[in-house]
Amino acid sequence: MIEKSLYENYHIDFSENITPDSDDILFVFNENRELYLDNDQKLAKSLDDFNVNFCLYIGDYNGKKAFVVNVDGEKSFYNLMDVYELSHDMYHIAGKAVLVNDWYISHRFCGRCATPTQIDEKDMMLICPKCGQMHYPRIAPAIIVAIRNDDQLLMAKHSYHDNIRYALIAGFVEPGESIEEAVHREVMEEVGIKIRNLKYQRSQSWPFPNSLMLGFTAEYESGNIKVDGDEILKAKWFKKDEIIRYASDISISDWLIQQFIDSTD
Ligand SMILES: [Zn+2]
Repeated sequence: MIEKSLYENYHIDFSENITPDSDDILFVFNENRELYLDNDQKLAKSLDDFNVNFCLYIGDYNGKKAFVVNVDGEKSFYNLMDVYELSHDMYHIAGKAVLVNDWYISHRFCGRCATPTQIDEKDMMLICPKCGQMHYPRIAPAIIVAIRNDDQLLMAKHSYHDNIRYALIAGFVEPGESIEEAVHREVMEEVGIKIRNLKYQRSQSWPFPNSLMLGFTAEYESGNIKVDGDEILKAKWFKKDEIIRYASDISISDWLIQQFIDSTD
């Protein structure tokens, strides 16, 4: 995963009243939250050829102004999962930009009273002029855990991932639940075992669709692996040489797997 913080080079700011100059950074998304890249796989250099729905200034990156732009279009737009394979830098800031794009699209009307919302002058917030409800970008906490038993790592095959053979146990935090409770519950639900020595490692913003992934390690305590056959098809213990790695090293999942492999050397 990316070790360097985006915020070393990024100064957060927000406005709808600043327009891009020729040298600025344009994250142009279509309605399917796909990112525009030109023939050289670079970001858009101008908005001249687009039908722009909205354009929001989101701060300065490496001294240049960055914008989230939503447009109509299908050609030359790419799923962020594919873009992320290209470079870590792209992941860094496109991942933030798409969350701003999603937030603005999803809160143009108040969820409580259906009145058109108004953008705040300073904060990244949409407010309802009728009932006062404030709408901030929404982030969903999720957990991912690398469970080990001696020199083996537990991985499971999810029914919703065609392209991933086995992955670490992961899931969203439910309302009213602590992060730690979420880990124990997900592990029990998905593979039917108890864990101990749960330790937080690090986190990663993961915009698929809007997760904040909290990465943990844990040790096997008791129970036999039992999967539901619905969400989880199979689960088993892997020695380090048996693990099939992802193509990309960009995710916290890959980082946790790497930590496991390094620790068994
Ligand atoms: Zn309202």
